[in-house]
Amino acid sequence: MKGNEKKCNFCGATRYERRQIQYFYSREGKYLLVPNMPVEVCAECGMIYYDAEVLKEVERRFFAIHEGREQPDRVVEVPEKAIAL
Ligand SMILES: [Zn+2]
Repeated sequence: MKGNEKKCNFCGATRYERRQIQYFYSREGKYLLVPNMPVEVCAECGMIYYDAEVLKEVERRFFAIHEGREQPDRVVEVPEKAIAL
């Protein structure tokens, strides 16, 4: 993601904005919420691009926390409700 010219896979635009978003990682019924995930967003269509290094770090933290080697900043409760249409 560093240095080279990037093109949006969807619309072909080359303008990106750096932003921080809330990212919800889940794996096998366990979760990790990252409140300040750095991403790049296509300025044209809004497609979100994640940095591979950042994703790797999220995964590393996920395992460290769920294996008890690291403490989360805090633990949040998430309500669940099935859709009934
Ligand atoms: Zn785009």
